[in-house]
Amino acid sequence: MTFDELGLTPEVLKAVVETGYTEPTPIQAQAIPHVLAGKDVLGIAQTGTGKTASFTLPMIDKLSRGRAKARMPRSLILEPTRELAAQVAENFEKYGKYHKLSMALLIGGVSFGDQEKKLDRGVDVLIATPGRLLDHCQRGKVLLTGVQILVVDEADRMLDMGFIPDIEEICRKIPFTRQTLLFSATMPPEIQRLTENFQHAPERIEVARASSANERIKQAQVKISRRDQKRDALRHLIDTENVKNAIIFCNRKRDVSVLHRSLDKHGYSAGAIHGDLDQSTRTKTLEGFRNGTIRLLVASDVAARGLDIPDVSHIFNFDPPTHAEDYVHRIGRTGRAGKEGAAFTLVTPEDRKYIESIEKMLETTIPVHDLDADKEPAKAETAESEPAEKETAKEEAPASAASGDEDEGETKSRRRGSRGGRSRKKKTDDAQPAAEASAPEEAEAEKPEPVAEEKPRRARGGRNRRRDRDDDDDNRVIGMGDHVPAFMLREVKLPRRRSAEEEDASAEKETEEA
Ligand code: ADP
Ligand code: MG
Repeated sequence: MTFDELGLTPEVLKAVVETGYTEPTPIQAQAIPHVLAGKDVLGIAQTGTGKTASFTLPMIDKLSRGRAKARMPRSLILEPTRELAAQVAENFEKYGKYHKLSMALLIGGVSFGDQEKKLDRGVDVLIATPGRLLDHCQRGKVLLTGVQILVVDEADRMLDMGFIPDIEEICRKIPFTRQTLLFSATMPPEIQRLTENFQHAPERIEVARASSANERIKQAQVKISRRDQKRDALRHLIDTENVKNAIIFCNRKRDVSVLHRSLDKHGYSAGAIHGDLDQSTRTKTLEGFRNGTIRLLVASDVAARGLDIPDVSHIFNFDPPTHAEDYVHRIGRTGRAGKEGAAFTLVTPEDRKYIESIEKMLETTIPVHDLDADKEPAKAETAESEPAEKETAKEEAPASAASGDEDEGETKSRRRGSRGGRSRKKKTDDAQPAAEASAPEEAEAEKPEPVAEEKPRRARGGRNRRRDRDDDDDNRVIGMGDHVPAFMLREVKLPRRRSAEEEDASAEKETEEA
């Protein structure tokens, strides 16, 4: 199969050739003709299978005829995160270079003024995160009544982030006669419902079983007896497994920071991304990772979702994901474009239940990888009652002054608050109470790690269910919660520089506490 057979115009084909693609991926081959024919499409294919081009290419051709009216975009693409939205925009620029389509981005971290000016002039393609878009709609800056093509990309991630109600609201603002394309790596029931309610007789294109993992990826689990030995085991794997570059996933934002600092202290080239970091930091880190100046990227699920990071040799799950489906997303970051990849998951006895549900979903067992025999287990890093540096916890508080983050932070505040001034509410929501940041570590050091499961107050009757566990560490009541005696809030002076080991020991306590 070649791109020529799909019905695309010579201009788009030329741009594709210049990108270096020789043949369409299966999802592209199957979806493009339907999109060109004006049909609704439900595309299910795992991460890294080229879903983006399966809608951008035909859209460029379809939109090349016609003109946009002021504030009435002709097509709308919804993405769960700013990074993904920016990537789709890059795709339009690349493939649309022989067309004169106008495009606007409504995402956090991008200046309002410029985008509004573009909207006023009329855009063919509007790429947005759902919350941002609704804010603009409410202020009368965008009218969705002219949208002819709607794309809901990464639908399962939208669900994870609690965006389904926003998407429903957006769908209701767009005329029935639109063409609706929906893409997802997995097909949970909530997405199935979205499809039933908002798509019209969609062509269902399923490239692999919804929850299957790429077969080129070597998977292994590494049994660890105690959580405080994970970092040591991780370093050992990095040193012995022929790691060119890797993404290391943690379940909590706080652990992302702690692990990043630890790797840094041990002399590894590492960067971190999670939703509380401001946009320019994230962009810079990702750029460094793409161009190879950063070798190890420590990440949370939400921040890493669907990012186009080519050629990752290894994935490490510092924690197994609590939702089995996320496992497929995570390991989908390696073994791309025909390359081999490997994914290691560190599993403590407390983690067992998660790995078991992953195995159940995949209908396979993940082989156990023994750490080398010569490997001494890490010494138990017991509580030396030296409190962790205050800043370890503090650094999670958003230095981000960037307006209205679309990621973890914003969704959280939105769902909880009233629809009204939701993005304004964010800052207060995100600021961590001082009490939590300084909660006494000693008291917590031996406590078993709390399970990052959905909290009942969030389980809003099935379909609007929130699963942004990346946020969970911000809300959990820790230690005495808000009621911390004043003497415990006093800052503790620490020696200025500590060794990597010491850093680890105190970081470990931090981790345990989180
Ligand atoms: P998905 O959205 O399914 O996760 P993307 O659209 O982000 O996947 O594409 C994943 C990677 O595959 C990107 O690096 C993209 O440039 C590349 N890619 C897409 N289509 C092709 C193709 N036809 N041939 C080669 N590489 C492709
Ligand atoms: Mg994608």
